[in-house]
Amino acid sequence: MTEFRAFRVEKEGDTTSHSIVEQSVSDLPEGDLLIKVQYSSVNYKDAMSAKGVPGVTRQYPHTPGIDAAGVIIESTDAAFEAGDEVIVIGFDLGMNTPGGYGEIIRVPAAWATPLPTSMTTRDSMIIGTAGFTAALCVEKLEQMGAAPEDGPVVVSGASGGVGSVAVALLAQSGYDVIASSGKADKMDYLKSLGATSVIGREELATENSRPLLSTNYAHGIDTVGGEILSNIVKSLRYGGSVAICGLVASPNFTTTVLPFILRGVNILGIDSVELPIVSKNQIWNRLATGWKISSLDAMTVEIGLEGISDAVDAIFAGQVSGRTLVVH
Ligand code: NDP
Repeated sequence: MTEFRAFRVEKEGDTTSHSIVEQSVSDLPEGDLLIKVQYSSVNYKDAMSAKGVPGVTRQYPHTPGIDAAGVIIESTDAAFEAGDEVIVIGFDLGMNTPGGYGEIIRVPAAWATPLPTSMTTRDSMIIGTAGFTAALCVEKLEQMGAAPEDGPVVVSGASGGVGSVAVALLAQSGYDVIASSGKADKMDYLKSLGATSVIGREELATENSRPLLSTNYAHGIDTVGGEILSNIVKSLRYGGSVAICGLVASPNFTTTVLPFILRGVNILGIDSVELPIVSKNQIWNRLATGWKISSLDAMTVEIGLEGISDAVDAIFAGQVSGRTLVVH
C-alpha cells in the first residue's frame, strides 16, 4: 500500500481550506516506523492546526492529527517489527509532522508506545491526547498526596475531551467530583460519567476581586484558564492542588500570593507533548489496567475524514462534548 488518503489543510494569508487528497508514502518524512493508522481523534490543538491558529503548525499544506494508533507496516528500529500495534501521541505529530488524519504516517521509533495488551487501538484513540492529559492531571494530583478523603475535586470545561475523561477517572478512583460546565443540557451526561454534582460555568467565571474565597474544593483540574482558574485557586482548601493544562477561556489568570502563603495551595503544570516516552508508556499502561475507563463509549462520537472539518468548527464554537474518534 503506497497510496493513501489524508485530510489536508491549505492556508492562504489568514484563510484555511480543507480537502481530502490522495498521497503517496514517498510524500512522508524520513522515520523509523511506517504505520497504517486505524484511528485518530479530534483535539483542541488539531482545531488550532486546521484553522491556521499561530503557534501550532508553521508550514502548510499540512495534515493535522496529534493522535494516531495503528499497525506497523515497516520498521527499521530493532525495538519494533511489522505487525506491532502502537500508539503515537505528542512530540511533533500533527504539528509540523504529517499526523493521524492521514491513513499512513512515518515517525521516529522514539515517539511510539507499544499498545498495552489489554487495550485496543480504538480505545486508545477515544482516550487520545485529551484523555491521556486528564490522566496526567490525576497522577500529578496523586503525587502531591491528593486522596478521595480530602474532599471534592472540581473539573472545569468538564464536558470537553480532557474534562470528560478527568471526571470519569476521578469518579472511578473514588473522588467526589464537581463538574463545572457551560452546557446546561450535559448535566445527565456528566453525572453518567460519575460527577457527584454539576455547577454552571458562570459560577466560577465571574470576576471576584477578593483574594480568597470560600474553600469549596480540596483539589481541581482546570482545562480552561482565565477567571475560572483564578477562582479555583482562591477556593482551594488548605494544602490543595490544581493541575492546569488548558487555555480555552484564556491563557491568562490573576492571583495574589495569598492562596499560596496562607493556604499552602499548589499549581501543577501539565504537558503531554514533550513528556518522555518512558513516562508516556507508564501512563498508557496504567490506563490499560488499574485506570481502565468503563465509560469510553458513552463519551464517543465517531467520524471519518469527511467529518473532521465540521468537528474542528464545533470545537471553536465550544459545542463539543466528550471525545471525537476519527476512524480510517
Ligand atoms: P474541548 O474543546 O474538547 O473542551 C473544552 C471545553 O471547555 C468545552 O467543551 C467547554 O466545556 C469549555 N469551554 C469552551 N469554551 C469555553 C470558554 N469560552 N470559557 C470557558 N470554558 C469553555 O478541548 P479539550 O478538552 O480537548 O482541551 C481542553 C484544553 O486543554 C485546551 O486548551 C487544550 O489545548 C488543552 N490541552 C492541553 C494539553 C497539555 O498537554 N497541556 C493536552 C491536551 C489538551 P463546558 O461546556 O463543559 O464548560
